[in-house]
Amino acid sequence: MNKGVAIITGGAKGIGKAIAQRMVEDGFTTVVVDMDKEAGEKLPDELGEKCHFMMADISNSNDVELLFEKVIAQFGRVDVLVNNAGIIRDNMIWKMSEHDFDRVMDINLKGTWLMCKAASTIMREQKKGRIVNIASRAWLGNPGQSNYAASKAGVVALTRVLALELGRSGILVNAIAPGLIDTPLTQKLPEDVIEKLILAQPTRTMGIPEDVAHTVAFLCDERMQFITGQTIYVDGGKSIGAGI
Ligand code: NAD
Repeated sequence: MNKGVAIITGGAKGIGKAIAQRMVEDGFTTVVVDMDKEAGEKLPDELGEKCHFMMADISNSNDVELLFEKVIAQFGRVDVLVNNAGIIRDNMIWKMSEHDFDRVMDINLKGTWLMCKAASTIMREQKKGRIVNIASRAWLGNPGQSNYAASKAGVVALTRVLALELGRSGILVNAIAPGLIDTPLTQKLPEDVIEKLILAQPTRTMGIPEDVAHTVAFLCDERMQFITGQTIYVDGGKSIGAGI
C-alpha cells in the first residue's frame, strides 16, 4: 500500500535513519535528504526500494529549491515532511564563536524554515500534509548550548505559528522534543558525561532512535486528525524536572 511521499532531512544516520526506516515500513515512498553522500547512498540497499536518497544542504535555499523540484518531478507530491537534520556546536557563551552560533542557527532553524516554506506551498495546493519538526528537550535550557537551545526554541515557535497558518489547508504541524537518545551525535560525548546525563532521567535510561520514530509515525497516521501545534517530549520524563 502506498501512503504517499515523505521527505526526511538528516536521515542518513541516527534518529533520521530510524524515522526513514519506519516511514518505509509504514508504506511511504521515502526521500532521505542529507549532506552525507556516502551514508545516504547506501540507504536504498539498506532500507529497500521505497527509500530514495537526495543530497542537499538544507541551510542553502538553492539546494532546497532544487530538491523540491526533483521530488515533484519524480514523485509528484509531498505528504509528509520530517525536519530532523540538526547539529550541535556546544560551548559556554564566553567561549562560543559567532561562526558556531550562526552555523547552528542556519541548519537547525533557518534550514527547517526553508524546508517548511517549500513543502507548505505544495501541501497547501494538495490541501493535505503533515510536518513534524524535531526540536529538543534542550530548548528548555542547557548550559553550553545557548546556540542550540535558542535554535530549538525557534523550531518550537515555528511549529506553533505554522499550525495556525496551515490548519485551514488540512496541514498538521507538530514538534517532537527528544531527550538523550543514543545516536552518532551523542556517542561523541565522554562516557562520564553520558553516565551523568542518564542519571538525570526519571527513567534512568537513554532513549533509542526508534522511540522518536514511533512518535513521528503516530503524528503522521491518518487516524490522527486533531493534534497540531504541539511539542511532544520523548525524553524519559526529563522535561518534568528541567535543570536536574
Ligand atoms: P546525527 O548527527 O546522528 O545525524 C544528523 C544528520 O543530519 C546527519 O546525517 C547529518 O549529515 C545531517 N545533516 C546535518 N546538517 C545537515 C544539513 N545542513 N543538510 C542536510 N543534512 C544535514 O544526529 P541525531 O542525534 O540523529 O539528531 C537528529 C535530530 O534530533 C537533530 O535535529 C538533533 O538536534 C535532534 N536531537 C537529538 C538528540 C540526541 O540525543 N541524539 C536529542 C535531542 C534532539
